[in-house]
Amino acid sequence: MTSVVNTAPSLAQVDVTALKGVGGQLAEKLAKIHIHSIQDLLFHLPLRYMDRTRVTPIGGVQPMASVVIEGEIRASDVVFGRRRSLMCRLQDGTGVISLRFFHFTAAQKKRLVPGARLRCFGEARRGASGLELYHPEYDFLDGSSPPPLESRLTPVYPATEGITQQRLRNLTEQALELMGSHTLQELIPDDAWKREAYPLSEALAFLHHPPKDAPIDELLLGTHPYQQRLAFEELLAHHLSMLRVRQKIQAEGAQPLPTPQRLLDRFQQQLGFKLTGAQQRVADEIAADLSQPFPMLRLVQGDVGSGKTVVAALAALQAVGNGLQAAIMAPTEILAEQHRKSFTQWLEPLGIRVGWLSGKQKVAERRQQLAEIVSGEAQVIVGTHALFQDDVEFADLGLTIIDEQHRFGVHQRLALREKARDKRRSHQLIMTATPIPRTLAMSAYADLDCSIIDELPPGRTPVSTVAISNERRHEVVERVRAACLEGRQAYWVCTLIEESEALEAQAAEAVAQSLTESLADIRVGLVHGRLKAADKEQQMELFKAGELQLLVATTVIEVGVDVPNASLMIIENPERLGLAQLHQLRGRVGRGSAASHCVLLYGSPLSQYSRERLKVMRETNDGFVIAEKDLELRGPGEVLGTRQTGEVNFRLADLQRDGFLLPRIKEVAGHIMSTHPEVVEALISRWLGSSENYASV
Ligand code: ADP
Ligand code: MG
Repeated sequence: MTSVVNTAPSLAQVDVTALKGVGGQLAEKLAKIHIHSIQDLLFHLPLRYMDRTRVTPIGGVQPMASVVIEGEIRASDVVFGRRRSLMCRLQDGTGVISLRFFHFTAAQKKRLVPGARLRCFGEARRGASGLELYHPEYDFLDGSSPPPLESRLTPVYPATEGITQQRLRNLTEQALELMGSHTLQELIPDDAWKREAYPLSEALAFLHHPPKDAPIDELLLGTHPYQQRLAFEELLAHHLSMLRVRQKIQAEGAQPLPTPQRLLDRFQQQLGFKLTGAQQRVADEIAADLSQPFPMLRLVQGDVGSGKTVVAALAALQAVGNGLQAAIMAPTEILAEQHRKSFTQWLEPLGIRVGWLSGKQKVAERRQQLAEIVSGEAQVIVGTHALFQDDVEFADLGLTIIDEQHRFGVHQRLALREKARDKRRSHQLIMTATPIPRTLAMSAYADLDCSIIDELPPGRTPVSTVAISNERRHEVVERVRAACLEGRQAYWVCTLIEESEALEAQAAEAVAQSLTESLADIRVGLVHGRLKAADKEQQMELFKAGELQLLVATTVIEVGVDVPNASLMIIENPERLGLAQLHQLRGRVGRGSAASHCVLLYGSPLSQYSRERLKVMRETNDGFVIAEKDLELRGPGEVLGTRQTGEVNFRLADLQRDGFLLPRIKEVAGHIMSTHPEVVEALISRWLGSSENYASV
């Protein structure tokens, strides 16, 4: 085993202040980006590279490429386009290119004149005059020998405030030199892997300053073997951090909850339908978990309409049947309200009291609910984020269920788990309607067991989907009229580019107004996030009862809303939404026995990319297929819904590109956990650092 044997000081222990030029101030700035030790600095890896090792003939410059060029200025003028700029035409034997300076001094203008010879570095873009370099760096090539070119590819590091690239390069050079006299531990045990095992120091040295002839295309794509070597280790570290969370939680134990069979039977008898095979299988998996003396950590994936709520209710009953409480958290008010109704309807006949916590609750009502929760009178508690709040105390919480968890970040999930764990014995069930591609699930939910409800209740007909340009809006309006007059109901969904609830609400109001006018014979309702909870509920009730025929709504109806008679959905500007979100929305129809339709009413012209995405929606109703496509088209951050929170923040790994490594990583992680537990901590802290989200759990 290579780890730990060497007695030279480890770079994980040497502070950055050991480097020349790093004083207190710079150390502070480095600390802000989590660089404390020399090891941290070495793992602050370049984002990309520039090739400043050779001069590119001007005629061979490609758009978007960063290039060094040399030539003579043939013309130099101040031009007055949309913005005043200094334009120089630079020529060599092979072609001409423009240099454009929006900011320039009188001295610059005086020297950048015809006849001057320059070497420039910059990124070529297509501009008004053909290829242009905006604000290139430049040196004059006058007389004597030209300044030497770089001898290696130039790394570009993630931008950091107050530290220049030059500074980072210099510090990294010094750090690389220290690798000679110090150790950088190989943390992955030799017996855990063979094929991928390039020495760490070799990989780092190469990636921080690749030689001139290194394959820059591969490096830019992140597929170079040294990059893959590090990506493997990074993904492994993340995987281990999740496994460690799981291990810690399971080590704490939980109260086993044997299956209260008679209670479950009574519940099913009054349910009015029979569980599907898939529901039964998943319910059994959950029941088996719950009867173990350690906490269940299970994720249930099931497409929209697959019937997850009943499965959740069965789990809740298992807690209640053992004298404990169950909490169910939903991501939106509407969905939480709907769960409250379902649970109340199903459980109160069995003598079980359903409590309720929502952010929009009146103070007095909330106080009363809190009292019932802490006294144990409320046995199943349904709510939104309000369940997170500090003043919520449970009498005896045995199970937390998080519904539609893709809307919650990993942090929130862990925070809720933490809350539940205060009681020391809470089991946890997570349900999501957004199927997660296999690779993502493997990486984001390594701490969870997975169940899949892969069957819809009987009698559903698949939704047929068409895309129609907004230019034919009037036809669509007529189609809505015809459907409503036949006794069916329809949704009209408004979307906005900006994530502004207020603007979205305004847009929906305007659409509702105009549809009310053009559909005088149809009863039109309106739901958006700015309505009071009671008004929203009233509109939903009226729609559910068939009093309203057309419901204009924002994406607030995305999750969970269940009105089986609604069989037509119009989605305006579907190109603004992700595939998963469109799939969610579309899942609101196709819930009854009538043939259902979805119209994607797009604004034309559509980009190629949007066209491709709408095509996916037309071609499939399978959430898993859509999820894979979404991943392909938008990347993992978007698919997991964690872009804003930046949770899937890898230094160099990319789930899409490197996902194929995960099965191996899973094996190696398991091997390390069981036979080399001593390196787990070091690997996690090397890659996830002190900002690590999971370390404290
Ligand atoms: P989702 O998985 O999207 O949360 P729901 O739990 O809201 O789905 O279920 C969708 C609808 O299907 C509800 O009206 C529910 O009562 C009904 N349902 C669930 N399971 C069955 C079943 N086995 N047979 C018939 N209807 C079912
Ligand atoms: Mg649901």
